[in-house]
Amino acid sequence: MRRTARARDAARAGSDRKAGRSRHPNRRPKASKPDPRAPSPTDPAAGPQPAEGLPETELAPGLYLVATPIGNLGDITLRALAVLHGADRILCEDARVTGKLLARYGISTSLGAYHDHNAEHVRPTVLAALRRGERVALVSDAGTPLVSDPGYKLVRAALAEDLPVTAIPGPNAAITALILSGLSPAAFLFAGFLPPRQAARRRALERWAAVEATLVFYESTPRLAESLTDMAEALGNREAAVARELTKLHEEVRRGRLADVAAHYRLAGPPRGEAVVVVSGPERGELDPTEVDERLRTTLAELGVREATAKLAAETGLPRGELYRRALAMRNGKE
Ligand code: SAM
Repeated sequence: MRRTARARDAARAGSDRKAGRSRHPNRRPKASKPDPRAPSPTDPAAGPQPAEGLPETELAPGLYLVATPIGNLGDITLRALAVLHGADRILCEDARVTGKLLARYGISTSLGAYHDHNAEHVRPTVLAALRRGERVALVSDAGTPLVSDPGYKLVRAALAEDLPVTAIPGPNAAITALILSGLSPAAFLFAGFLPPRQAARRRALERWAAVEATLVFYESTPRLAESLTDMAEALGNREAAVARELTKLHEEVRRGRLADVAAHYRLAGPPRGEAVVVVSGPERGELDPTEVDERLRTTLAELGVREATAKLAAETGLPRGELYRRALAMRNGKE
């Protein structure tokens, strides 16, 4: 039977004082010996794993931001399981999704809802629980909470009151896609989801066009073809990778130039599942700016500003927005 939070606090405070242990949330739990007879967590036939097999946990009070798998339930860390097992409650987006994960590992901690539609209302009660010294775990449906998922305002509010907050790192779709993309991970910008409407999406992309880094976007699969087309126009025909169904049975990474990958999805139709788009940084240096200006001037002699810009963007892979500004300046006689 689960003890009440208060009873556990009292018992832990006593035993911590006796043992002179730190109450910092990152204090390492005592590891218990692994059971060699225990089935592998990645074995689909393994069935629920008993929570008794987890490291013994003595969680300090505080808010725990716990990353969970993005597809493959085997991708949970031992520390995440220990925190989910030892917390007084788990806040999640959808109890059906998190319930499956908990059932898989035999964890029966109570679940509460924390999602975009109730966060404003629930946040004060979570903060009150933290003030009372509860251990609260926050998870999202998949991956790392706060990353295009709820939790940021809760963390800000907890930090503003000096309440303890710690992270239990683990899976994240953006990083998984980046390292599989074959594109440079040296500097990257995670841009989250692009706006669903085309005009706003193009404006956002034109802002990212000048960033000297690999760009990482989350995108819904029904919008993939139109977003990739807009990316090719706004960013230039850069190298890209679409990473789909990561860590799942039908994981796929499609690599190529933006225009080609866009054409693939336009023809094939929207793929199933979830996807991350990774795009290389600007490929400058390959074209001499004077040569670009010369070609733009020649093209403008035959075509209007929009047509000339589109033609040169397709030919050179340079961002349309930048070419458009240069073409306008030439047409207005400023250059
Ligand atoms: N917090 C999550 C994380 O850490 O990755 C992201 C949550 S966000 C609401 C969901 C988006 O993440 C999806 O639309 C997709 O772009 C990406 N995503 C999540 N799981 C994925 C997977 N298994 N394969 C590819 N993309 C995934």
